[in-house]
Amino acid sequence: MINHESNDTLDKPLLINLNIMENTATKPADPQAPKFPEQVTGMYILAESLKRLGLMDVYGLVGIPVTEAAYAMQKIGINYYGFRFEQQAGMAAATHGYLTKQPGVLLTVSSLGFMNGLTATTNATVNCYPMIQISGASDPQMVDMDMGTYEQLDQLNTARPFVKAAFRCSHAKDIPQAVARAYRAAVSGRPGGVYIDMTTPALGEIMNAADAEKLFYEPVDVASPVAPTQSAVDRAVEILTSAKRPAILLGKGAAYAQVDDKIKELIETYKIPYLAMSMAKGLMPDNGELSALSCRSTIMEKADVVMVIGARINWMLSFGKGKWNPDMKFIQLDVEPKEIDRNVPIAAPVVGDMGESLDMILAAMKGKTMAADPQWLASLQAESKVKNAKFATRLADAANVMPMTHWTALSVVKPVLESNPDVILINEGANTLDDTRDSVDMFLPRHRVDCASWSIMGMGMGSAIGAAVATGKKVVAVEGDSAFGFSGMDFATICRYKLPVTVVIFNNGGIYNGIGVNPSGGDAPAPTTLDINAKYNLIGEAFGANNYRVDNPADLKKALEEAIASGKPCLIDVQLADNSGSESGHIGYLNPAPLIEYTV
Ligand code: ADP
Ligand code: MG
Repeated sequence: MINHESNDTLDKPLLINLNIMENTATKPADPQAPKFPEQVTGMYILAESLKRLGLMDVYGLVGIPVTEAAYAMQKIGINYYGFRFEQQAGMAAATHGYLTKQPGVLLTVSSLGFMNGLTATTNATVNCYPMIQISGASDPQMVDMDMGTYEQLDQLNTARPFVKAAFRCSHAKDIPQAVARAYRAAVSGRPGGVYIDMTTPALGEIMNAADAEKLFYEPVDVASPVAPTQSAVDRAVEILTSAKRPAILLGKGAAYAQVDDKIKELIETYKIPYLAMSMAKGLMPDNGELSALSCRSTIMEKADVVMVIGARINWMLSFGKGKWNPDMKFIQLDVEPKEIDRNVPIAAPVVGDMGESLDMILAAMKGKTMAADPQWLASLQAESKVKNAKFATRLADAANVMPMTHWTALSVVKPVLESNPDVILINEGANTLDDTRDSVDMFLPRHRVDCASWSIMGMGMGSAIGAAVATGKKVVAVEGDSAFGFSGMDFATICRYKLPVTVVIFNNGGIYNGIGVNPSGGDAPAPTTLDINAKYNLIGEAFGANNYRVDNPADLKKALEEAIASGKPCLIDVQLADNSGSESGHIGYLNPAPLIEYTV
């Protein structure tokens, strides 16, 4: 049976909602239009729901049926950031969530806008970043009957496999509760992406403002942290303190949790060498006395106990097998019980929120001494010294190579970024990612955001925007030319909102590099070939950014220093050699064995 009431609502032009705006002069008057402020619509209720939960930054791309919702948000003081591509708005929301522990909010239109945004929401779920995607959606009654309505797509069910929780608002009265529950779902337990299907009828539904007011509520204890059991803590402490060759492995879950002091106390009091996964770099200083960043293989092979704090023992850690000492005992701190034993048996799981877990571990450690062999730390320190010196020589040797390689550029980028430790570094690419991560030491927590667990391309501009907005800090995005292409149009968004973001593009003319050869002998570009002669800096010019095109280290240094100091949108096009960089960077082994010979 067709619900005539809601069809009536749908048939009316969306203009009925526009009375929320004071300026309706350009819109024809509708006799049935709601009277603001006595009456409100779902859009207004949505805006208020976000505001009352303190969700004051929204990233999105508007159109039917959510345009007025964004205006309503802006009207009541929410900062709305309009993007050119939904996926980048989603990357911004995800990064915002990671850096603040408050869900980032993404607003999308129905069908393709929803799908474009869902890519980023999925990436957020995979990386345990809290965010909420709110998408306009066609009337579900019409979708369910396959009537072929405007932008018809069963978005709720499409989203379900990719998110922690999904809600549909069919009525305006459901909106405050949906937003509050989405918030709770996004940030509690293992954080992740949440979806709200915001149907057109709900967005347009008129309510008396007084009735709407009664719907708002403040959720109690929205991210209630769960503590581990005392016996789990005692077991872990017993294993850690008896270790001869202990190490701590920090992951981005540890960085996310904002328990920096507790981690510092554990590491420094008990003198435990540590190494960090890429986004955990800086949680403890990369160049610290106990840093074993350069001794990853040695730790895998020789440590007898490794305490994994907020990292998954996944492909990035060889699943805990192979190179790893088979007699190693793992202690694992994680909020997600399903994570334990995923690839290797965990001798001491500590399941709980990081803050609670570390408090209990630190309390249980009091008065205990470590059984560690003093030679262990000394040998790691000696190894670090040798390896770091070797790395420094490598960079120094590359410093004057022309045309520049990745290493030449990094011989300049490294000291400039390291003398600006409070700048947030966004980093993606293949060789650009690997080499920048390995070169640039980080000294502060949550100052590095990269393509993370899926090692995806196409997070750069969005993440840079999310980081700048969420923290108010300066941001430098070091991007491969290929990586930049996925999100480049949203450099315009950086400029429109005048954000203190510098984008550095390492242009070697291709995916991996620019030397690909078409194996057919034809003229068409090879699959990995891009544009070695492109003037990416002109994208900066197009949108009014300070822009630079450099082909030597001295100019790069000057440009980067100037750009960071300016605090304005800047774009630096760095011309590299087309043969700098190898296929898939450090992870070429993940490619299937080649059948044909090809040049890349
Ligand atoms: P990395 O890529 O740095 O190795 P991962 O994303 O693989 O890090 O792992 C992060 C882990 O941290 C996830 O297993 C997640 O469940 C966990 N985590 C996230 N937030 C918290 C928290 N507040 N308390 C405890 N564990 C957390
Ligand atoms: Mg490239």
